[in-house]
Amino acid sequence: AKNIVVIGGGQAGAQAVQSLRQFGYEGAITLVGDEAALPYQRPPLSKAYMKGELAEDRLYFKPAAWYEDNKVETLLSQRVEKIDRANRQVLLQHGGHLDYDAVIIATGSRPRPLPVEGADLENVFELRGLSDVEHIQPKMIPGKKLVIVGAGYIGLEAAAVARQLGLEVTVLEMEQRALARVTSPVISSFYEALHMEHGVDVRCGARLGSLKGKDGKLTHAVLASGEEIKADMVLAGIGIIPNVELAEEAGLPCKNGIIVDEDARTSDPRIFAAGDCTVRPLAHYARTGRLESVHNAIEQGKLAAAAIMGKPRPALDCPWFWSDQYDIKLQIAGLSQGYDEIVVRGDVEAKKFAAFYKKNGRLIAVDAINSPPEFIASKRLIMSGATVASETLADTSISMKEIAA
Ligand code: FAD
Repeated sequence: AKNIVVIGGGQAGAQAVQSLRQFGYEGAITLVGDEAALPYQRPPLSKAYMKGELAEDRLYFKPAAWYEDNKVETLLSQRVEKIDRANRQVLLQHGGHLDYDAVIIATGSRPRPLPVEGADLENVFELRGLSDVEHIQPKMIPGKKLVIVGAGYIGLEAAAVARQLGLEVTVLEMEQRALARVTSPVISSFYEALHMEHGVDVRCGARLGSLKGKDGKLTHAVLASGEEIKADMVLAGIGIIPNVELAEEAGLPCKNGIIVDEDARTSDPRIFAAGDCTVRPLAHYARTGRLESVHNAIEQGKLAAAAIMGKPRPALDCPWFWSDQYDIKLQIAGLSQGYDEIVVRGDVEAKKFAAFYKKNGRLIAVDAINSPPEFIASKRLIMSGATVASETLADTSISMKEIAA
């Protein structure tokens, strides 16, 4: 390739650009991103950065000078409107086009909008980018009433930050438990109890009916049951929608994500896709899926760069993720969907334990709470497809090192 266009300046796009240069690509690279900022990390936006404990410059993957030194042209606050495959061009929002030999689509995802009346009122927020935090942070004032919609990781992390900043926080979750989509009842109960301990009003089985306001400003969250909860601000965290429209309009197969192969390649050999916007083969699970994680974006960014450069495929890790809430560090390895057995190791009361998920005797995932060794060893066990006796996993007198050896 002589000219590569990367669409989207997030985790996957930034990684692809770095990997292309690492793998020795010397041609032109243009990174087109519709945000104003250079590529930055999103995880701190609902954690340390939201709390005010991390300086903004720490969010950026690379300083502006890196892009100059590495001859990466960055077009910021600029959208790609269309991929014209016949002419091998991408068309830009502000006019003009870029020719390409290869394209990497790294368009990520966007928050699912609240499907209720009043969602457009003032002081109703979502949380995806730096500019969202800029709007939210000034409203994080002690004593203010915050209603969070959705007890997923982002909602719960924001709830923890808000409590630590002294807000009154209610979390509404329409499912019967927190984190229902992503983890087991053991972990859900743990987090519900943790937040209640910290004074969050966690309401499961509570569906938001509408948002009520006065003079365009939010005043109440109204439940489907009719109950009204006073609110100075609402933060929605009800999931994401993958940004597949560009690919779809270009005729690339999509199904809840842009469909890619083991090398992050779409059905067009010149077009790759990486990150939240893709559906990919899940190496250790014999199926495909869409992942929403830093690990996935980094891995696919590397895969795309390696494939473009004709390099051997980089080694694949099993999926992993983390979440920080209060002083609790959760580390997740693997994908727990479809487990037929849970084994708990450690002390739930002491907030130091791991839930292992097994299927047909094999370890497929772990949720490790304040337990890094359990996380690290499990990654190895998951990737090797090992069978481990449940009694062994539960036995804290045997170290995780020994178990994984
Ligand atoms: P993004 O990082 O979203 O980047 C996509 C970029 O493309 C965006 O800037 C978007 O605006 C831009 N774009 C879209 N369409 C166009 C277009 N047509 N033209 C130009 N630009 C376009 N993951 C973890 O593993 N651990 C965590 O603890 C964690 N915490 C998170 C906390 C928050 C608040 C959020 C929002 C996410 C968190 N994630 C976490 C998820 C992780 O950040 C994402 O999975 C990751 O950012 C995905 O990278 P991406 O490059 O696919 O998408």
